[in-house]
Amino acid sequence: MTPEKKPTRIIKNIRIEVDKCNGCRACEVICAAHHAQPRFSSTNPARARVRVIREPLSDIYVPVFAGEYTAAECAGRDRYVIDGKEYEECAFCRASCPSRDFFKEPDSGLPLKCDMCESDPTLEEPLCVTWCLADALIYEEREEEVEEEPRPEEVDEGLEALANKHGWDKVIDAVSRLKKAQA
Ligand code: SF4
Ligand code: SF4
Repeated sequence: MTPEKKPTRIIKNIRIEVDKCNGCRACEVICAAHHAQPRFSSTNPARARVRVIREPLSDIYVPVFAGEYTAAECAGRDRYVIDGKEYEECAFCRASCPSRDFFKEPDSGLPLKCDMCESDPTLEEPLCVTWCLADALIYEEREEEVEEEPRPEEVDEGLEALANKHGWDKVIDAVSRLKKAQA
């Protein structure tokens, strides 16, 4: 018997080749324009979901994509030295965090997060990738298997096995406690 094929999902990823980045900031401009209201009505890089760390005197250019929002800043800080170049604390952090102004909508202060340009389904790849003429941003997709939800009859069988072992009263009590905890 051939094993059943598991369902899959597409994982999207932008690979960053830092050595190729020249700090032109085209990625910031097109991202800001794409997310402006109405679309393409402004190019304020403060609205971009990508920020380029630029230190021309040290030849440092690093694009960083906006990630998750965090309500509290970290208690510690990391300082990186790569190939003899020293980067500022928090340089690579993707969080919209209270400790700095990065990745916050300038008017409302709401956190910004890269959405892979998914609001425009006609795009073949994220706009920052298309606009990066230095090829420092490479769009990649991969298919990943996902665990299937258990079938209802499997849940029934599992519950029955638990009831045989512990009794229905205990199983019902445990389920109702779990349900309350998740409410
Ligand atoms: S568009 Fe490309 S080269 Fe220009 S700053 Fe962004 S990542 Fe760097
Ligand atoms: S993928 Fe789209 S939303 Fe994310 S940084 Fe690039 S242009 Fe902005």
